[in-house]
Amino acid sequence: MMDQENFRRYGHEFIDWIADYFEKIEEYPVRSTVQPGDIKNSLPDNPPVNAEEMDKIFADFKEIIIPGITHWQHPGWFAYFPANNSPASVLGELLTAGLGAQCMIWQTSPAAAELEEVVMEWLRQMIGLPKGMVGVIQDTASTATLCALLTARENATDFAANRVGMRQPLTVYTSEEAHSSINKAVKIAGYGIDNLRSIPTDHNFALIPEELEKAIENDLNKGLQPACVVATLGTTSSTAIDPLVPIGEICHRHNLWFHVDAAFGGTAALLDEKRGMLSGAEMIDSFVFNPHKWMLTNFDCSAYFVKNKELLIRTFEIHPEYLKTGHDAVVNNYRDWGIQLGRRFRALKLWFVIRSYGVQGLQEMVREHLRLAELFKGWVEEDSRFELMAPVNFSLVCFRLKKAGVSEEEIARLNTDLLEKVNCSGRVYLTHTSLKGRYAIRMAIGQRTTAEKHVREAWELIRRHAAAL
Ligand code: PLP
Repeated sequence: MMDQENFRRYGHEFIDWIADYFEKIEEYPVRSTVQPGDIKNSLPDNPPVNAEEMDKIFADFKEIIIPGITHWQHPGWFAYFPANNSPASVLGELLTAGLGAQCMIWQTSPAAAELEEVVMEWLRQMIGLPKGMVGVIQDTASTATLCALLTARENATDFAANRVGMRQPLTVYTSEEAHSSINKAVKIAGYGIDNLRSIPTDHNFALIPEELEKAIENDLNKGLQPACVVATLGTTSSTAIDPLVPIGEICHRHNLWFHVDAAFGGTAALLDEKRGMLSGAEMIDSFVFNPHKWMLTNFDCSAYFVKNKELLIRTFEIHPEYLKTGHDAVVNNYRDWGIQLGRRFRALKLWFVIRSYGVQGLQEMVREHLRLAELFKGWVEEDSRFELMAPVNFSLVCFRLKKAGVSEEEIARLNTDLLEKVNCSGRVYLTHTSLKGRYAIRMAIGQRTTAEKHVREAWELIRRHAAAL
């Protein structure tokens, strides 16, 4: 057990360790090199009966745990999407842990509820969502999308599904490029996966509105009830942008819930020059983006906005006697704005980040990442051995090594080989995807400390290994 004095001592030591980690992170291989079972086999099968010294626990952290960590904050991180953090956010998170407040209702920490209300309004302004939309922090975009689909279900059934369960099938529409969290939400929100329509995309991987309309008409003709459309701003594979205006008009015409998943791309709306993708936003019913991806707020922190908070609250509200307080009529009790009762004080780190960088500081980071992606795209275009696989809408570049006269399988094998060799360098980490059945390497730029030299190093590694293949 740790006494007060040791807590202070180790607290200082751990902050020093994190500061050193930030400074020396490039000394680690980006992707962990351990094999399955390595970490488990280094740990005892049974818990310690007697208290252990923190020195020993910390030594094991460094020796056993760190080798099994993939370094998401490494400037050579180009895999998946980023989940960038920042010193301000880490310190905010530390204070949240220290306070240990469980922020289920206003009364259980008024500052947490009111700060959340204020920072979510700041965020709404920062990304240019319509006035009147209100936000709540969820753990992840997956949860936010589940909330959207549950609210859409109630909206479509006049809140009967909440009372008596689903009596008729409801259908949901999203593009074939949408994230798997939509499939998951459709499964668990009671729609049934057979009632999810996967709408074809155009050559830019964006949803085709005419195909959406056709699918809705088709279901109506079969006597089914369409309930919800999910559009994406920045799809996972290629950051495609679904056109909100025609999709919103279709939703309006058919009285459907319109949810927008901007988990990664939403952060780019900090920039005026990227706001165009939000045109039509006045037709959106709900919207999610992740400050924990590209806005320097350490995982987890997902911003969920709704046009009509009454529909959200009516979907989730509960009124057990033990949670009633005298303030309920005049405050936000966020327990009723989502699935869980207990809530972490996530607004604190977000507040720290926004204040510590200022809107301008955050804009500069996003602009720099967009510039680096354009630079990388230019290099790909100049090298005749490679081809671009999708438009570069944000800071993700999809590309691959070409080879004439061979099958798609052969090209996939060649690029898998290239990717593995590049990643084994330990200097960078990139991942892959499939775009309409064609293999593509993804170069996702978005780490706080990624500079031009890191992007250049990645490209040099790619070229060198490609030459050797
Ligand atoms: N939506 C999109 C477009 C994504 O790219 C991702 C993850 O990368 C998600 C949703 C899921 O995000 P989360 O991990 O916050 O649930």
